[in-house]
Amino acid sequence: MTADTTILNYINGNLQAPQSGRFLDNYDPSTGSIYSQIPDSDSQDVQLAVDAARNAFPSWSSCGVQERSRVMLRIADLISKNLDALAKAESQDNGKPMWLSSSVDIPRAESNFRFFATAILHFSSEAHRMEQLAINYTIRQPIGIVGCISPWNLPLYLFTWKIAPALATGNCVVAKPSELTPMTAYLLAKICQEAGLPPGVLNIVHGLGGNTGQAIVDHPEIKAISFTGGTQTGRTIAATAAPMFKKLSLELGGKNPNIIFADCDFDEMMDTTMRSSFSNNGQICLCGSRIYVERPIYDRFREEIVKRTRDLKVGNPLSEQVDLGALVSKAHLEKIQSYLKLAQEEGGQILCGGAIIDHKEAHLRNGYYLSPAVIEGLPIHCRTNQEEIFGPVVTIAPFDTEEEAIALANGTVYGLASTLWTSNLQRATRVAEQLQSGIVWVNCWMLRDLRTPFGGVKNSGVGREGGLEALRFFTEAKNVCLKY
Ligand code: NDP
Repeated sequence: MTADTTILNYINGNLQAPQSGRFLDNYDPSTGSIYSQIPDSDSQDVQLAVDAARNAFPSWSSCGVQERSRVMLRIADLISKNLDALAKAESQDNGKPMWLSSSVDIPRAESNFRFFATAILHFSSEAHRMEQLAINYTIRQPIGIVGCISPWNLPLYLFTWKIAPALATGNCVVAKPSELTPMTAYLLAKICQEAGLPPGVLNIVHGLGGNTGQAIVDHPEIKAISFTGGTQTGRTIAATAAPMFKKLSLELGGKNPNIIFADCDFDEMMDTTMRSSFSNNGQICLCGSRIYVERPIYDRFREEIVKRTRDLKVGNPLSEQVDLGALVSKAHLEKIQSYLKLAQEEGGQILCGGAIIDHKEAHLRNGYYLSPAVIEGLPIHCRTNQEEIFGPVVTIAPFDTEEEAIALANGTVYGLASTLWTSNLQRATRVAEQLQSGIVWVNCWMLRDLRTPFGGVKNSGVGREGGLEALRFFTEAKNVCLKY
């Protein structure tokens, strides 16, 4: 399997150019150069995808869970078989280290298919008996044609996280990956062909969010939208979809707090905090970007995080030696730089990082590399601590009481994930209950059980993904009341 230089849409089982014939440049963030072309699709292509999905729906929705499961497991097997090629493509497209895409992104894409292919075999619905009167039973039927729109940070991982439950429940899908990272979605289309997924069941339309993505959200026959991306885009999508009464699942941005109490296991906390701060260059919606540390260990923590952050190696994503690769795009690099400038204007002190990497290798000099940064001295209400930066940047601050830590953690409009470090079980449960976030990790981070509900509160989203939540989202519940 090769990453071709011209990416094509996948519609009705065929790989095809966009109707307009227009293509966009796709950049390799590690070098800053154009390495492939991607369809600049519009509403004509989305219409073709909807037509194909409509035709495929009757047989896909009625072929039975065993058959759907079988095809999806074949897709999972082929993802596994092509792990190296997919991991390389993901790294080239996104800039992330290949060790990361081959150990996290691609294995997780495989797991997503495997998990939902088998979960559907165990999906059941409820019955409610009215004594001596009637029995109610609930049928969960597929919605029809659904739209799945995903971001660039975990490209195949998040794309398949949506597509797999949608397909398992018998829907036909029109999907759009981020235009910044389209390559593995294109390779997935080839895998679906090889796996024998019937034409039209999954359609992948590439292009810009405001054009292709908006055409998916606008389309009246697409009855549900599952979206992961920024809060502002989520707002636009909700504004379009709500008056059409579409079902919506919105997984949006975060500004996640880490609360570190002095009684934690310091070494384990440090190792994990480095990961939760800088994995994937901080470009994971679950990364902790505001770190609050109880005062007795603050100085020790400060010294350690600065030392370890300085030691992180930033460079060629294909090298096994690097900790961090390139940022996804020039625009994103510039956005992060603008936040570093803002942090200083707001009175923050950059303790380390924030500089463009000066590479010895000539071909990497135009890549988007930034040294990871730790900032101190900023109040909770400044923009640096309120807005999502989504890069290798964390702020650190001390706290004195549990109440203060909770107030700091909850002090933004976001509420996706929180991380809590303490060896006091009572405190862990007490604080976890008061944190305004959809996910709380205690003494760990990114430990994921795919059966658990996943999603955010406040401006971090609406609805939950994962396990039964996803199967329920992609089905309509119908109650049948049968009088005795
Ligand atoms: P964006 O919101 O910019 O884009 C997400 C997707 O939506 C892309 O495919 C984009 O296309 C598309 N899109 C943009 N505008 C529209 C529109 N009007 N209608 C339909 N689709 C549209 O997010 P990013 O790609 O920049 O991803 C980063 C964001 O994602 C961060 O805020 C991060 O927190 C969030 N995120 C949330 C997660 C969660 O689970 N809560 C997980 C991972 C990331 P295009 O790329 O072409 O613009």
